[in-house]
Formats: sequence, structure tokens, C-alpha cells
Amino acid sequence: MSSVAAGRAVPVGRGLRGLQRTLPLVVILGATGTGKSTLALQLGQRLGGEIVSADSMQPQQMGTEKVIDRKVELEKEDGLVLHKRLSQVDPEMAAKLHPHDKRKVARSLQVFEETGISHSEFLHRQHTEEGGGPLGGPLKFSNPCILWLHADQADKRLDKRVDNMLAAGLLEELREFHRRYNQKNVSENSQDYQHGIFQSIGFKEFHEYLIAEGKCTLETSNQLLKKGIEALKQVTKRYARKQNRWVKNRFLSRPGPSVPPVYGLEVSDVSKWEESVLEPALEIVQSFIQGRKPMTTPIKMPYNEAENKRSYHMCDLCDRIIIGDREWAAHIKSKSHLKQLKRRRRLDSDAANTIENQSISPDHDKEPKENGSPGQNEQELKCSI
Ligand SMILES: [Zn+2]
Repeated sequence: MSSVAAGRAVPVGRGLRGLQRTLPLVVILGATGTGKSTLALQLGQRLGGEIVSADSMQPQQMGTEKVIDRKVELEKEDGLVLHKRLSQVDPEMAAKLHPHDKRKVARSLQVFEETGISHSEFLHRQHTEEGGGPLGGPLKFSNPCILWLHADQADKRLDKRVDNMLAAGLLEELREFHRRYNQKNVSENSQDYQHGIFQSIGFKEFHEYLIAEGKCTLETSNQLLKKGIEALKQVTKRYARKQNRWVKNRFLSRPGPSVPPVYGLEVSDVSKWEESVLEPALEIVQSFIQGRKPMTTPIKMPYNEAENKRSYHMCDLCDRIIIGDREWAAHIKSKSHLKQLKRRRRLDSDAANTIENQSISPDHDKEPKENGSPGQNEQELKCSI
């Protein structure tokens, strides 16, 4: 889901006595507005790689990105024509989609257009392998590395990004979209908030404003506009958090031999882009190309450092061998283990009682044991005498 821009692995140095070296797959991850595309372009320019953007994998896009245009364009075409085209580039996906399901057909076509990989192939690569990256991961690319652009003060940045988008003419673009694709639907009361343009961030937030504009007082209009801006800021931040959560869950919480290293780059200060993003990124990628260790250390989730995935644990109670700290922690909380534990405690206390009974004189044999400490028992005995 989260954005991926990738320098595709391409063979280089063909002239070097037939020796072929392969550029690493560089995947650039980052939430909305962290500068993925900029970095991908800069790396591509300097290192000569090919840039493959998988941004279209995102279910939602900012309203200004041209991806939307393309999708809207595709969806305007005849469903049968689209389906036929899809069956040429991706017969597997075409077989699964009804020509009437224009939205999905258009999306699959778009995936192919943007990445050069058929949508079904894309999904296969994603699913076949646990821990594999979104573009196929380590089996396909021998030398992948992941750059994660993240910002400390993400919220402030994102608010500013929305303001910049507004300053750069977002409203004009939205009005244009509204005129072209939505006005007629609204007047017929047939707008579809579940599909098409309404799925993209940045449109539905301004819907009220757009339909009321020119038909209400300036004051109301301004209020609706303010409301729209606030809503867009909220949804943008929520979306960015979701993207970062995805990166953490997908790549950082389950490291293993098949998960490539993730290098974090701090993008908070745009004025320091060269030194804090571009230069470290170049160093990392060049290290990968040359087969040496980058100066930057990859990100690790704190608990992974202490965790031993190969540790050996023997559970005497269950008579089982458990490998790995995490598995062990799960085992000692498991139902089956707790059941064994209870059983063992019962047996132990029975055994203890038996021993106690044997050490007490036969006169006191019938005394109940549950009545508390031996001292209390003595008290009671004295009273009853
Ligand atoms: Zn156990």
C-alpha cells in the first residue's frame, strides 16, 4: 500500500568483458509528502538506474497527482474495450474481472502502464513469499535495499503541505474536476461517493464547498472552505500515519533472512535535503552496488535486538521443545501450557498434603488442611479441647 519508488535492477557495464553487474533494487518508502519521487529521480539521474514508480498501488491518492487523471481517463472508456486490452497484457487478471467492473479493470491496466509488470504478476510476487517486499522482494532481486523517508514533525509538515497545495492552485483543479466529472451527477443526484474521484483524498472534503459555491453567501462559502481545509489536513495526517504503520509492520517488525535492511532517512528539514537525505541515500545505494557495508546502520525495532530467534527452550511441563524467544513467550501464556501448569500445581499440593499428613500424628489426621496456617490450626485445636 505505502508508496514505493524503485530503481529497477538493470544490468550495467555490458562492455566490461561480458561481465554483468546488477544494480540493486532500491525501494523508497515514505508517507505522503516525504519526497519519495524526488529522491527516486535524483538517484536515477546519478546512478543511471531506471525508475519504476509503484505509487499507483495506493488505494488513495492526493487529488493533485496525475495518476487520478489517468484512472479517470481509463474509466471513461468502454468497459469491453478496456477488458479486451487487459486480456492482452494480463490474461490472468482479465479472466477474473467482469468487463462491467470498469474500476478494477482500469486499475489493473493502470498497474501495468505504470510499472511494466502485469497486475497479477505483481500480486503473485507480493504473496508468494513471506517477508517479500512489495515489488517481489529478495528472491527476484538478489540485492534489495529499502530507504524509508520519515519525518519527526510529520504533522506540522503535512499541514504545511496542504497549505502549499492550496497555494499552488488545488482549488482550481478541484473546481475543474467538479465541472468535468461531477456537476452533472450532482444535479441528477447520482454522484457516487464510493467510486472514482471520490476515493481520492482531497476531493470529497471540498464537496460541500464546491456545490455551494456561488449559491450561498460569501461568509458561508468561506466557512465551508475552511471546513474542507481542516478535513483535508486531518485525513492527510491520518493517511500518513497509516502508511508509516504499514512500513513498520511490513518491514521492521518481522525481520528475517528474507526481509531486506531498511535505512531510515530523516526528511523533516527540507533545507538539509542534500546532506540528510540525498547524500546518505547515495552512499547506501553505492555501497550496495559495490558490495560493501553502508556507513549508515539499518533500522531495527528495539525488541528485535534483544530477541533471539534461535534460542532453545525446553518446557518440562508440556514435554516440548520451543525454539525462539517470541515463541517461548507465547507458549508460556498459551492455554495448553496453563492447563499443564494447573494440573502440576494440583498434583504438587496433593503430594505436599500427603507428606504433611504422614508427618503429623495419627490423632490429627482428620483435621482439614485448608484452614490456614499451622498456628491457626493449633489455636483451633486448643479451643476444641
Ligand atoms: Zn509448556
